[in-house]
Amino acid sequence: MKKRLVIIGAGPAGLCSAIGATEAGLSCDDILLLEREDELGGVLNQCIHDGFGEYTLGESLTGTEYAERLITEVKKRGIPYLTGSTVLSITPDKEITLVSSTLGYTRISAEAIILAMGCRERSHGSLRIAGTRPAGVFSAGTVQRFINIEGQLPGKKVVLFGSGDIGLVTARRLTIEGAKVLGVYERKPHPTGLDKNMKECLEEFGIPFYTGKTISKILGKERVEGVLISSVDENLKIIKGTEQLVKCDTLVLSLGLIPDNSIPQDTGIALDRITGGAIVNQRYETQIEGIFACGNALHIHDYVDHIAREATKTGINAGECLLGKIPKATHQIKISHNKNVKYTVPQKIDFPLKSEEYVTLSYRSIKVVKNAKISVLADDEEIYTEALEVIRPSRQHKIRLTSDMLEKISKASVLALNVTEE
Ligand SMILES: Cc1cc2nc3c(=O)[nH]c(=O)nc-3n(C[C@H](O)[C@H](O)[C@H](O)COP(=O)(O)OP(=O)(O)OC[C@H]3O[C@@H](n4cnc5c(N)ncnc54)[C@H](O)[C@@H]3O)c2cc1C
Repeated sequence: MKKRLVIIGAGPAGLCSAIGATEAGLSCDDILLLEREDELGGVLNQCIHDGFGEYTLGESLTGTEYAERLITEVKKRGIPYLTGSTVLSITPDKEITLVSSTLGYTRISAEAIILAMGCRERSHGSLRIAGTRPAGVFSAGTVQRFINIEGQLPGKKVVLFGSGDIGLVTARRLTIEGAKVLGVYERKPHPTGLDKNMKECLEEFGIPFYTGKTISKILGKERVEGVLISSVDENLKIIKGTEQLVKCDTLVLSLGLIPDNSIPQDTGIALDRITGGAIVNQRYETQIEGIFACGNALHIHDYVDHIAREATKTGINAGECLLGKIPKATHQIKISHNKNVKYTVPQKIDFPLKSEEYVTLSYRSIKVVKNAKISVLADDEEIYTEALEVIRPSRQHKIRLTSDMLEKISKASVLALNVTEE
């Protein structure tokens, strides 16, 4: 089979990039959306709480309602899709191998590919907790799926470790369904989820929150019977003698998300060792021409609205690339940053730009910085500056580089983003 544009994954990123490609003028018949699950919508299908769409739609929808809007739009435009179809591999010359419940083992030859496979949850192996491995240890995403899709409550007395947004939402969901969440424990000295979720998911439900703590041992043979919780020092190492027994039947781990990068890794696409996703230019194109990435497969986002914007832009870029509307790159500038910045996406900008092109620079800080000064430097010239009372690693920030700034950047040899404490 031949297709001009194949999009892998039909969560919000895949759906929005498909819509974006048609907006660029690509015919629907030239596009194919591939999804391994039986339904379109991705992780949104298990998010039944509200708060989705506040930025792009100006209203607060549940994840499922948000997904439904995108799915309706994809169907209305007549964009072809295949569910029950798992992509196994892609090659640098864009040969896609998949297994599909309708087509069986199939190969598709594409001119462009968008990687929109979402992310994975970090496993508890990454924490190396001592003790046994009884039933009752779950990741937060699995618990969310059990409750919201399967209608099952995985436990009654729960300890939740990790204060990322999915953990916080899961703690509230467990409480609403009748489980007792004994506490949410965080290793770092501050919560890693959004302030809004700390308030709406823990404070308003009376769920205790502890920082500077880790799970040092899991107890129980057949089923979890308790956990030992220890304090950690400033290097996050366990302080001996601080163990405390908390009796529970369930341990939920919310250890963060990482882009699903197995396909790009096997294809030889250059990955950013901090984001875990591909290294891309301002059009979200990887170092392999015609292979793009967006959504949580590229870097972990705070809000689905940000994914929607980024993915729509990716779809437009992929469509324009196929329609010959993107100028061939003549030179490139890499984006560097100082030690307070964890990463930037994109990591580089290709010149020349297409007409009226702007660049959205996403970044996170590596630590909490109070009275922060954010500056963008083209060589030694400060072309953008902003003061923020505080910036936290849990919050992704964005800077829009306008055409005036990009004009200066195009003539510079170094582009840097710096966050300093004033
Ligand atoms: C477990 C979990 C729970 C979450 N809960 C929340 C929440 O409560 N609130 C919130 O705001 N955000 C939540 N998120 C974040 C959420 O992922 C994003 O808001 C958003 O759904 C990400 O969009 P996406 O399209 O990038 O990825 P996803 O929504 O993950 O979509 C990726 C899609 O790609 C498909 N796919 C993957 N690999 C292949 C392959 N090889 N072949 C074909 N298809 C493939 C997947 O099946 C999936 O449908 C959660 C994330 C996870 C992982």
